[in-house]
Amino acid sequence: MQHPFEEFRDFVTVGHPLSPLVWFRLGGPAAYFAKPRSIEDLCGVLKRARDAEIPFKLLGGGSNVLVRDEGVEALVIHMESPFFSDVTVDENRITAGAAVPLTALISQTARAGLAGLEILTGIPGTVGGALRGNAGSRQGAIGPFVNSVTVLDAGFEVQVRERDDLSFVDRESNLDEPVILSTVLELSREDPESVVRRMRRIWIVKKENQPYGHQSSGCVFKNPSPDVSAGALVDQAGLKGTRHGGAEVSDRHANFIIAHPGAKAADVLHLIDQIQQRVWQQFGYELELQLQIW
Ligand SMILES: Cc1cc2nc3c(=O)[nH]c(=O)nc-3n(C[C@H](O)[C@H](O)[C@H](O)COP(=O)(O)OP(=O)(O)OC[C@H]3O[C@@H](n4cnc5c(N)ncnc54)[C@H](O)[C@@H]3O)c2cc1C
Repeated sequence: MQHPFEEFRDFVTVGHPLSPLVWFRLGGPAAYFAKPRSIEDLCGVLKRARDAEIPFKLLGGGSNVLVRDEGVEALVIHMESPFFSDVTVDENRITAGAAVPLTALISQTARAGLAGLEILTGIPGTVGGALRGNAGSRQGAIGPFVNSVTVLDAGFEVQVRERDDLSFVDRESNLDEPVILSTVLELSREDPESVVRRMRRIWIVKKENQPYGHQSSGCVFKNPSPDVSAGALVDQAGLKGTRHGGAEVSDRHANFIIAHPGAKAADVLHLIDQIQQRVWQQFGYELELQLQIW
């Protein structure tokens, strides 16, 4: 039987596993999965999805997504091809495609003697995901470096959003268009060695405080306010190390859940529920999810 994306079968597959593409390594397949190789592929498949009333989702590096065990009844678009991975440097301005891995961009700019992005050292994922969620840490976030962002708007037209139209607050941006295609970032010139030294220092601290090497996402919950840390609330509720099935609240950083071999996405969801209930009962805070649940 023909599927709705039959005419795009050279880059759309049916029932594609998503667990290898997300950091949790959990969850079921995507009903439809596209790896567009050009803007024409991307627009073509998006228009087809709209006509067939099939919802779609963008997948970057999968470091902030938990896929449910039953999978995703949607078209999942994986921005991975070289077409979306270009990086060009012009003086202190960097143009980077949405699919560029953030870590690669940080290393490239540091080696080129461009300072700024090293504060994002250790944050996995892509430039697209980082822009969507204003990736960052205590040292700062990607937002202040953004000069412009090229997107596909709701009508699937290419548009450029200039700095004045953009807002980046906490772990959020106002980039709610269907697709982020690329960005221009403005950095400052500095001796490459000192930028790389800062990168190394930040990486050492990150590795000590976050559970790298485990299956996980980043922080599961948003901080309730700038002064109240979700991780501290989970810790004070005595939940570090709590397990449900194969999912466990990290004993290194209480806002991380790690998945042990054999875990199910349902185990993570159960633990999330348990944490939210306990923090509400003990401290009266309703923890909101930072993690995207698909
Ligand atoms: C070990 C670990 C440590 C982490 N530490 C940090 C940290 O210190 N600070 C921090 O901010 N985050 C951290 N994270 C979370 C995560 O790395 C960031 O949220 C990251 O920016 C997500 O990027 P991604 O490409 O993986 O996005 P994904 O997880 O693939 O997607 C996240 C969201 O962005 C959307 N999206 C992705 N690409 C596009 C696009 N091109 N156009 C439109 N929408 C898009 C997706 O639809 C989804 O809604 C950590 C994660 C892990 C696993």
